[in-house]
This record gives sequence, C-alpha cells and structure tokens, in this order.
Amino acid sequence: MNIVIGAGPAGTRCATRIAEAGHPVTLIGDEPGQPYDRVALSRYLAREVSQQDLISDLPATVTHRPGRAVTAIHRDTRTITLDDGATLAYTRLILATGSTPIRLPMPGATLQGVLAYRTMADVDAMIAAARPDAPAVVIGGGLLGLEAAAGLAARGMRVTVLHAVDRLMERQLDHTAAARLARHLAAKGITLITDARSVAIEGDTNAQAVRLADGQILPADLVVMAVGIRPRIDLAREAGLATARGIQVDAAMRTSDPAILAIGECAEHDGACVGLVAPAFVQADVAARTACGHPACYTPSADSAALKVAGAPVWSAGEVEQTDTQPLILDDPDGAYRRLLLRDDRLVGALLYGATEDAAWYMRLIRDAAPLGALRATLPFGPAYTHAEAAE
Ligand SMILES: Cc1cc2nc3c(=O)[nH]c(=O)nc-3n(C[C@H](O)[C@H](O)[C@H](O)COP(=O)(O)OP(=O)(O)OC[C@H]3O[C@@H](n4cnc5c(N)ncnc54)[C@H](O)[C@@H]3O)c2cc1C
Repeated sequence: MNIVIGAGPAGTRCATRIAEAGHPVTLIGDEPGQPYDRVALSRYLAREVSQQDLISDLPATVTHRPGRAVTAIHRDTRTITLDDGATLAYTRLILATGSTPIRLPMPGATLQGVLAYRTMADVDAMIAAARPDAPAVVIGGGLLGLEAAAGLAARGMRVTVLHAVDRLMERQLDHTAAARLARHLAAKGITLITDARSVAIEGDTNAQAVRLADGQILPADLVVMAVGIRPRIDLAREAGLATARGIQVDAAMRTSDPAILAIGECAEHDGACVGLVAPAFVQADVAARTACGHPACYTPSADSAALKVAGAPVWSAGEVEQTDTQPLILDDPDGAYRRLLLRDDRLVGALLYGATEDAAWYMRLIRDAAPLGALRATLPFGPAYTHAEAAE
C-alpha cells in the first residue's frame, strides 16, 4: 500500500497521480474535511469566492482519512501509527507534511485573537473575529501578510501592516516597486509601518494592542502573524531520516530510506526547500512515478510569484538582488515599472509592477537561459506591453 501523509496541495496531487496510475493509495491528513486549495484562501478571506469553491475533488479510488495525524513512522516494520492508535502498513510512504507558520515568541503571542495565516481554520477564525471599523494589525509585509491585510480590509477592518525591514516584499521587490505598492495600499486605507519591531501583544485574554520597540501602541482586536514558515520535519527526524532545514531527498524524491519519499514544502532537494505550489506539484508528479516504479527526475526551475493586492498586479521571478547583474529598467511613473536583471547576456530575474501580462514570456526567457542577442535592446517592452502601447 502507498500511503501519503499530508493532504495539502502536494500530498493531494501525489495521491491523485498514484490512483490514476491504478495503484492503491491512502491519503492521511490532520486537517478536517476534504482537501482544499490553500492558494485561494486569500480570495475566500476577501469574499471573492465561497468556501465551497476551494474544495478539491479526489478520485474515488483514493482512500482519504481526514482529521487524523500520523504520530510515528516505524521503518523497521514499515508501519505508521495514527493519533487514534491505529497502525497501518506501507510499501511506499510519501511525506507531504508541508510547513508550519512561525509564531514570534513575544509576550501576548498566545492571546485570543492572535492568528497565523495558513489553514482554512485560520481564515474561518479571522472571518469570525473581523468587525467593520475595528483595528487589525498584520505582522509581516511579505506576500502572505499583504494578502491577509487586503482580505481584512475588504471585510471593513482598519488594517496596519508592520514590516521589520525598510520595504515591502523585499524578497521579490526592489525599492521602487515596493514604494509603489505601499502607495497603492495607502490609497486602499491600509497603513504601513516599515522598520517596525513589534515587542509585545497587549491584552488580558484577548489581543487589544501591539506594542513596538519605539514605544508606539497600535490598537488591535485581531493580530495576524505572517512572518515566515518552517518545514514540518519532526516525524521524519524522529524516524531517523536525514534532515537539514527540510527532509533531504534525491532527484527521484527519495529520502535517506528509499521506501520513503518526501515532497512539497517539507522536502529539501539540493539544499533548497520550495515555498510555492508549482514546484510542489512537479515534485508530487515525480514522487508518484517513483512510487509506481517508473524512472523520474526532479529539476528545479526559477521561482515566480504573482500577487494581486487590492488590485495591484505584481509579478517577480528569478533573482532579485542586483549584485553582479546588469539591470534594464522601464519606469513609467503613471503606469508600468519593470526591472530586468541580466548576467552574461541572459535574463536571470524579472520584476513587473502594474502591467504583468508579459509574465509568462519573461518566465520562458529565464528558464531557457539563452543569450538574448538583439532582443536585449527591446527587452523591457514585452509582446503584450508593446501591443497595448501600440493600441493606445
Ligand atoms: C494564504 C496562502 C496563500 C498562498 N498563496 C500562494 C500563491 O499565490 N502561489 C503559490 O505558489 N503558493 C502560495 N502559497 C503557498 C502554498 O500554499 C504552499 O507552497 C503549498 O501549500 C505547499 O504545499 P504542501 O502540500 O507542501 O504543504 P501544506 O499545504 O502545508 O500541506 C501539508 C498538509 O499536511 C498536514 N500534515 C502535517 N503533518 C501531518 C501529520 N503528521 N499527519 C497528518 N497530516 C499532517 C498539514 O496539516 C497540511 O494539511 C500560499 C499559502 C498560503 C497559506
């Protein structure tokens, strides 16, 4: 029997592929109910889709056991133990345990009204706590924090985003794009405080305010911490599998025990853990082939991140830092901003703000890594942008 632990996007995809190949598979997940589209949680928070729209169908041939945590892996007997005491035997075990959100260990971090942003349950708790005109604070101005802020603002809350560094989404954006995004959020009523060091959450049983190191007190009925994630590797580590930041795997997604595979955010391939759903799906497909006895090989490719915060389209892919790269910039103060990073006449990173229709075209150029040659002169004007300008 193939057993997949974790019914997030990676585990669900892998179980589906194994079932489609005609092999028996059991999918065990500790969240209740049917698997759902985690990426679409922000749209649910912002009332753009219903909860039902997020639910994913599983093939009838997948045995799904929701609301059950796996508590131990016994490699000597090839069995696992569940939290209800049951024992299941496996021939192949696939770990897809994902990540847990990091909680800053500050005073007040466990008060009611202090939430993470990871699961359907987190979003349901945010929706239950959201009151029009009530103050909310989001700690973290990365991709997730901004999506949470936009969703709470869409529910009428007065939202302040606290970000510890000097610009939003510093892993994806440069200063110019981050400043434009900040202006856009301000126009939507979201307040941003950069270089903000939150030191405590105040309140008796419920959160009431966030205190900053400089003494500022920000009222907050709801506090969302979106400060990063940590791969869930405890099961694997306790079973004696090789781990570093994640569970170490080879290109076929095999861990240090060839009967056990790992995929998605819990896996570490060639020193890197993925943090996006697209590469997690590729890993899931590779693991399904490996589990079914077919050769398969995972090749990492450049990450990309698309985000639409309250109507501001932003897209970035590949490298962000400018060191030893040459930037090409298109800066239309009222419209698009584009920064393209080149090394040795190849595109290695792209950042688009305001007009992102050319994203797939730039992604292909990054992945192909071919010399740009004559294309270089017109590179900031992708086909969609050029077409749109010509039509004006
Ligand atoms: C709000 C939000 C928005 C996002 N937006 C985007 C986006 O726009 N684009 C993008 O590419 N990515 C996005 N991401 C990231 C994306 O969701 C993750 O990369 C993806 O979910 C990783 O999938 P996974 O299956 O590896 O892990 P997870 O989604 O974390 O799934 C792991 C599952 O395993 C379960 N589990 C863990 N341990 C056990 C155990 N012992 N027993 C049973 N079950 C267990 C967990 O509870 C969880 O359900 C977003 C994430 C969030 C939270």
